[in-house]
Amino acid sequence: TLSDRLGAIFTNLRGKGRLSPQDIDATCREIRIALLEADVALPVVRGFIGRIKERATGAEVSAALNPAQQIIKIVNEELVAILGGETRRLRFAKNPPTVILLAGLQGAGKTTLAGKLALWLRNQGHAPLLVACDLQRPNAVTQLQVVGQQAGVQVYAPEPGNGVGDPVAVARDSIRHAQVKQHDVVLVDTAGRLGVDAELMQQAADIRDAVSPDEILFVVDAMIGQDAVATAEAFQAGVGFTGVVLTKLDGDARGGAALSVRHVTGQPILFASTGEKLADFDTFHPDRMASRILGMGDMLSLIEQAEQVFEADEAEAMAAKLVGNDFTLDDFLQQMMMIRKMGPIGGLLGMLPGAGQMKEALAGVDDRDIDRTAAIIQSMTPGERQDPKIINSSRRQRIAKGSGSTVAQVNALVDRFFEARKMMQSMAGKFGLPGARSNRK
Ligand code: GDP
Ligand code: MG
Repeated sequence: TLSDRLGAIFTNLRGKGRLSPQDIDATCREIRIALLEADVALPVVRGFIGRIKERATGAEVSAALNPAQQIIKIVNEELVAILGGETRRLRFAKNPPTVILLAGLQGAGKTTLAGKLALWLRNQGHAPLLVACDLQRPNAVTQLQVVGQQAGVQVYAPEPGNGVGDPVAVARDSIRHAQVKQHDVVLVDTAGRLGVDAELMQQAADIRDAVSPDEILFVVDAMIGQDAVATAEAFQAGVGFTGVVLTKLDGDARGGAALSVRHVTGQPILFASTGEKLADFDTFHPDRMASRILGMGDMLSLIEQAEQVFEADEAEAMAAKLVGNDFTLDDFLQQMMMIRKMGPIGGLLGMLPGAGQMKEALAGVDDRDIDRTAAIIQSMTPGERQDPKIINSSRRQRIAKGSGSTVAQVNALVDRFFEARKMMQSMAGKFGLPGARSNRK
């Protein structure tokens, strides 16, 4: 999969101090293959690779990140951009009802989506009406009624026994019904075919003209891969749409469809469907999808946090200390404060690759520990903080008294400091922390 392939590339990059043009070329080649394998359309891949290469070659040097992390960051940012940048919200009509038309192939998940969207809207205080305009399949109306019942919303459907209904008339009548019954959103479910078909397009276009929708959502199964592009283009030409909904993202869809559809049609992805149950549904977040495609969610949050917290100078200075032996108790305290700024300690350390040892060393450290640690360190003389080796037992007693802690707590802190110093020196070398880089220069 795309995630696996990219993961392998980035593992190879992790140990590098600096990226050569050859590294960048090789990386881009791998990313290109990965994207093509994930069914991303060729023009999309070309544009994407072009931008990655340009940015990776450019002088974007960050003190907080090593080169592999920088590439991951660039790839991620470009993925987010391709997927639409910000989340686009549903547009509501100034004069209700807001009309939303669902279009897409048979089996794409339109009827299921109608129920999900209805429930989602209801939970936000709207009073949606579901409209059954799929009169093609015998069970379609019943299916929508079941879904409506589950979502706790009304369903507008043609009276049974009236022969084959006319979906255009049903759609038109439903708007009047919604106005009378004070529904502020109308969700129109339509018929699909197994393939793109002129008659189907015409029917969808006729329904569109009858109800003048505020949003037309093209519903597409994320599992159909390359076919998504052709299908999206056909629907864009035949009916037109203002947004896309990706369904079946709970399967092992490779994400290529999302990238291509958004790029080829220029229309935003609004929602993501992730299962058969009504609750398996959410607004589409380009950043989350990008990190899913990358398969490096943890690494990405780490990068983000590292960038936020580490001022470049701070990081460089700290890095120099980490690799030398002049890491002091003051630095130890400063580092704990930085870690605190970065969020729950356990979560953060879990994200560092191979940080099991570090996690053990700091296990059970919480905010109260940090406060106590600060108190103890502040009760030390500058000389003691600079060179903790001089802290003998009489000094320990004095420090304990001064900070309102026990001698055992002071002992534990001093032990932990020496352990942490050892750990960080070895980590700086292993994981390409900024210190390792400046060391190699
Ligand atoms: P329609 O023909 O476009 O109305 O599609 P349906 O809503 O009838 O869905 C077709 C099938 O896909 C049904 O069996 C649904 O339960 C299933 N389905 C719809 N959305 C999802 C989803 O997000 N994930 C999974 N796993 N199944 C889905
Ligand atoms: Mg249906």
